[in-house]
Amino acid sequence: MLQIDIITLFPEMFAGPFSASIVGRAVEARLVEIELHQLRDFAHDRHRTVDDTQFGGGPGMVLKAEPLLEAVAHVRSLRGVNGPNVVLLSPQGRTLTHRKVAEMSGHESVTLVCGHYEGVDQRFIDIAVDEEISIGDYVLTGGELPAMVLVDAMTRLLPGALGDEQSAELDSFSPGLDGLLQGPVYTRPKEIAGRAVPDVLLSGDHARVEKWRREQAVKRTRERRPELLEDWPG
Ligand code: SAM
Repeated sequence: MLQIDIITLFPEMFAGPFSASIVGRAVEARLVEIELHQLRDFAHDRHRTVDDTQFGGGPGMVLKAEPLLEAVAHVRSLRGVNGPNVVLLSPQGRTLTHRKVAEMSGHESVTLVCGHYEGVDQRFIDIAVDEEISIGDYVLTGGELPAMVLVDAMTRLLPGALGDEQSAELDSFSPGLDGLLQGPVYTRPKEIAGRAVPDVLLSGDHARVEKWRREQAVKRTRERRPELLEDWPG
């Protein structure tokens, strides 16, 4: 089972995404356990202060290092984890890829830290963060949505998470597709607004279907993401 701990100021944001659909089912089936930790529980002053103005002046509040350090220590003691597993969601981190998601979904335990406001005190990062991950070159208000993205992507790769009706192995970027984009897919009706489903998909000839899908994947990748073909084996 994959254990995911999330340190956040806004645990209530996660209720919907983690209880519905594939992630919800994976939680119920105990393929993944997700525990939310309220950062404020690790602040000990009267107002449970977790942020402060930044040294040197400037707009925005910075998350203080001490509550974050204490929260991470708490999670580590709960899980008995010593290895590197603390991930800070940050627009300055390495951009998330399928390969990274697959690697992380194979871990026993992952701790995700959600920043907010102007970011987090650098000393927390230096002391306790093993890796910073970004979900793209834009800035969100907090790390909660990026954490949800990461949890969703990791969970759907867990064996059994997708059930029989779907497979992650032939999705875009997956090793089953050699990292290419998936080609077009169709469902009923056979024709709509004068556009017919390609004949080959109705042929019942699995080898031809397979070959066509492969060709379409290469074509689509060449059109949309030619750089992905650089790593392509053939
Ligand atoms: N001042 C920071 C900067 O310029 O890099 C941005 C802080 S952002 C408003 C607040 C928090 O949202 C970050 O600490 C991070 O946890 C999260 N966040 C924002 N954009 C993100 C992204 N693209 N990927 C991952 N996390 C992000």
